[in-house]
Amino acid sequence: MRWKGRRVSSNLEDRRGGGGAKAGGISILGLIVAFVAWKFFGVDPQQAYQATKQVTSGGQSQAVAPENLTPEQKEVSDFVGTVLADTEDVWTPIFQAQGTQYVPPKLVMFSGAINSGCGTAQSAMGPFYCPADQKVYIDTSFFRDMRQQMGISGEQNQSELSAKDEAGDFAQAYVIAHEVGHHVQNLLGISGQVQQARQRANEAQGNELSVRLELQADCLAGVWANKTHQKTQFLEQGDVEEAMDAAEKIGDDYLQKKARGYAVPDSFTHGTSQQRMQWFQTGLKLGDINQCETFK
Ligand SMILES: [Zn+2]
Repeated sequence: MRWKGRRVSSNLEDRRGGGGAKAGGISILGLIVAFVAWKFFGVDPQQAYQATKQVTSGGQSQAVAPENLTPEQKEVSDFVGTVLADTEDVWTPIFQAQGTQYVPPKLVMFSGAINSGCGTAQSAMGPFYCPADQKVYIDTSFFRDMRQQMGISGEQNQSELSAKDEAGDFAQAYVIAHEVGHHVQNLLGISGQVQQARQRANEAQGNELSVRLELQADCLAGVWANKTHQKTQFLEQGDVEEAMDAAEKIGDDYLQKKARGYAVPDSFTHGTSQQRMQWFQTGLKLGDINQCETFK
């Protein structure tokens, strides 16, 4: 994935420094544990945030001055800021064409734990979007987990072309674009409608609605990739496979099978790997949000 030399968003909040609680290498395990707690024991995600906060006795991530960043940290913030700027450049004209204004989300990079409008965020929960404060939260150690624990990287796809693409950068960009997709759904009122419908639905129906919302966010991420490629030719060979690999590994059935050994479709809230890949591809191929009709 080509990303250097483009605009970096000013909507980035870098709060990785300071005395955050460290989740260390267990965060994916923590993610799965929290996921299982949520799905099978009905633990409210917000309470899970609070609980994990107590367990890790975390402080809050502090804002870090740019001059104190290591070259590696600077590279990560440049990358995340560039992808965020790309999403702004895609969604602004799409909203304009509909006669509305795109108000971009802030993206908070943190380490360990941080207060969000949706409770205390802990890195074990994975990246998420909080509708209450319209911010995307990403503990950048999740990217490392994607590489080291889920094995998502550009390496298996490419030899020469993206020898430097060891970070699986397009898979990371896809995760960011998916979270921004949730912001788009929020602005369009879709998330609110789904939340209302969920209150009248039973548990299985409610989960089905969540799946459709998640798949639509995948499709919107595909639209972002389509439009950004039209403008910048940023996709390289192997990038799409990399995102598909990520979609597969963060599908509910995959995470559930890993956690329990088998999958329970009724409790899916993100969609199967197959569904996630299919909807990302739909967005990528067609580049049209009107085709992201996951609720039909
Ligand atoms: Zn999502």
